[in-house]
Amino acid sequence: MKKQPDVRGYFGDFGGRFVPETLMASLVELEDLWKRTAKDRGFQSRFKELLQRYVGRPTPLYPARRLAALLGGAQIWLKREDLCHTGSHKLNNALGQALLTREMEKHRVIAETGAGQHGVAVATAASLLGLDCRIYMGAEDMRRQESNVRRMRWLGAEVVAVEAGSRTLKDAINEALRDWVTNIHTTHYILGSVLGPHPFPVMVRDFQAVIGVEAFAQFRESTRSLPDAVVACVGGGSNAAGIFSAFVPFDQVRLIGVEAGGRGSGPGQHAARFSDDGRPGVLHGTLTQVLQDVDGQVLGTHSVSAGMDYPAIGPEHAQWEQAGRVSYVKVGDREAIEAFRLLTRLEGIIPALESSHAVAYAVQIAPAMPLKASILINLSGRGDKDMDEVARLEEGA
Ligand SMILES: *Cc1c(COP(=O)(O)O)cnc(C)c1O
Repeated sequence: MKKQPDVRGYFGDFGGRFVPETLMASLVELEDLWKRTAKDRGFQSRFKELLQRYVGRPTPLYPARRLAALLGGAQIWLKREDLCHTGSHKLNNALGQALLTREMEKHRVIAETGAGQHGVAVATAASLLGLDCRIYMGAEDMRRQESNVRRMRWLGAEVVAVEAGSRTLKDAINEALRDWVTNIHTTHYILGSVLGPHPFPVMVRDFQAVIGVEAFAQFRESTRSLPDAVVACVGGGSNAAGIFSAFVPFDQVRLIGVEAGGRGSGPGQHAARFSDDGRPGVLHGTLTQVLQDVDGQVLGTHSVSAGMDYPAIGPEHAQWEQAGRVSYVKVGDREAIEAFRLLTRLEGIIPALESSHAVAYAVQIAPAMPLKASILINLSGRGDKDMDEVARLEEGA
């Protein structure tokens, strides 16, 4: 595949920059700065030191032997992003962009959050680097994720309830974009996934690429080979893009992105952008695969995991899908919860419900694979945040 994205920020047919004129200059400034810092030794060593001493990198690569033995097929390896500070891969990106904010001499960051994981990561990075912080969150999400709202406030962030639309993530992004347009000279918008206008999709991927770089080297060292398959869950697509990016050049490695199958295949029941309800369209500044009805109205979504409950997917994933380099599959709420229980009971690791989707797909394909084959799962986060949700489902509420 050619070097991606091109100068206009397109991954093949997808990506670009669909924003109001007032944001254009800032996006260009951000792109220039990001390119400069990518080559700046001082910046990179500051970032690397924080990843090591603060986030806890490198995260381990762990052989899930009891799970593999039960399934009786391929060996299973977990990349332990659940062991990152704040409980998921999200801090890699939040910290990278917070450092960029300081380089721009801006003193304020804003972000959107759905489940609150990205909000907590941004509030954490802002507290560490002494930046003012405001987090936009749908009022409905605030009700569902009370403890994360409390964490953000304790960390010093202002959390603003968004009452518009469905009062969830999509509406919070609209509100954050509005704030950014108004306060562009003082404020950086820390977008949480490989979404939005160029350069966000490539910049966020590069901040998360540390996952793939580490996993590639760790896997080589442990097995002297490459995995047969790499499996990751796909919300916006940042943890998947982070781990896939190291393996994309190696055609013998199957790459599999797992979308939320939710409750079923009807419109509004899932967040599977590569299903029949998905078509190319523009959402939040980028041209990509979007769940929409025949009139182009963005469809509602459902997933048991809030981090995967979003109607669009990163533009690079749309290109990987079109090129056939990554296969996208879906796993429903029920199978994800079964995998959540299985990993917890067999390995003593409580995975995030998002990550449980990736585990569930590996559980499906491992038995038919030979013993000498191996599957690498990106375990994007830990499940503490999901305890209430799973308990609620257990009680059949
Ligand atoms: C937010 C989140 C995701 C989904 O986001 P991506 O950008 O697709 O990675 C997945 N897993 C966890 C644990 C998350 O917190």
